[in-house]
Amino acid sequence: SQMNSFYGQGGDSNIMQGAGGERVRVAMRVRPMMPHELNRGDENIITAPDNQHVLLSLKSGSKSFRFNAVLDDKARQADVFQQCGVHELINSALEGYSATIFAYGQTGSGKTYTMSGVEDKLGREGWTSDDNDGLFPRSVRHMWESMTMKPEQFYVKASFLEIYNEQLRDLLNPSSGILHCRWNVKNGFFVEDLMVVECTSQQDLIAVLHEGMKNRKSGSHELNKDSSRSHSILTVYLISETVSQEDGHIFKKYGKISFVDLAGSERLKESKSQGEMAKETGSINKSLFTLGKVISMLSSEKNPNNINQKYIPYRDSKLTMLLMDSLGGSSKALMIACVSPSHMWAEETISTLNYATRTMNIKNKPIIQMD
Ligand code: ADP
Repeated sequence: SQMNSFYGQGGDSNIMQGAGGERVRVAMRVRPMMPHELNRGDENIITAPDNQHVLLSLKSGSKSFRFNAVLDDKARQADVFQQCGVHELINSALEGYSATIFAYGQTGSGKTYTMSGVEDKLGREGWTSDDNDGLFPRSVRHMWESMTMKPEQFYVKASFLEIYNEQLRDLLNPSSGILHCRWNVKNGFFVEDLMVVECTSQQDLIAVLHEGMKNRKSGSHELNKDSSRSHSILTVYLISETVSQEDGHIFKKYGKISFVDLAGSERLKESKSQGEMAKETGSINKSLFTLGKVISMLSSEKNPNNINQKYIPYRDSKLTMLLMDSLGGSSKALMIACVSPSHMWAEETISTLNYATRTMNIKNKPIIQMD
């Protein structure tokens, strides 16, 4: 295909840099200034000189960061889908592999907008293309277009769960309470009693997204918790069947793609985090910290394809445990790190740039030394 290969083995893509077959790719998205930020006269501290670099400009100096893709404040939702190579992740899931897309960043940086789109649009009856649709509805459309072109028979299922304070809740069946993570030889880690719904149309999948987001919100009101502190994982299972011409034997392939909206990455001031707050902050940081460690080990050039899975700390958090089979081996992952351009969030933006850089495992050279 003539399409830019974000993950593929080489090709002329200018997005594709370095060694072929990299499994974890990191994109940076800078959202536009919000009206209240513009009204306040906030300064813009982030610019994107090209589609691989962002420049952070502070009074103390400036620094350039390189990522696999950079989407600036003018990038539309369709550009994000295209430039992050999301179609490649979907194609790989359709071929029986596992793929994951993460949205990382502080609360208000655009994670949910990037993943889902504008929320009140999601419940609409019928379904037409919309500029604001995020990666999930766009992925659903791409899946259906691709499935109809392929000879195999596909079965589609979906599940949607939330990890809050290292506890698992079913966003499609909230009354089931706290679920447990189990392990067996056949499935590896899995969530016991998690609802998995069959989806026979694009609308079914959009309904799953809508239902889960609604329950995430209402659950957070009921339990008096802050939904920005939870991680949500929406997984689409793509099961294909091919019947052998010779003996009628049925070959099955089990692919899946997970859309992970991570908890806000902002750190609470230590003095304020006591008791429950401290526990939550610890759990959020633990998952995000472990995820960063796992991804950086997987993407490290020192640890190419045959990395010894034993040394990767998947078991240190629920998030990485559940995503274990989607992160190692031949799976592909994309992390989209979201930042605000405003100077008001400089500290959080620096923290996100550093996290994303660590997961990329690329040395970014400072242009001017910052203190
Ligand atoms: P998060 O999920 O990180 O907390 P949201 O996705 O809810 O952040 O974004 C915060 C606000 O900014 C929302 O009102 C959202 O619609 C808006 N927003 C975020 N990114 C963009 C963007 N690229 N273009 C336009 N509006 C955006």
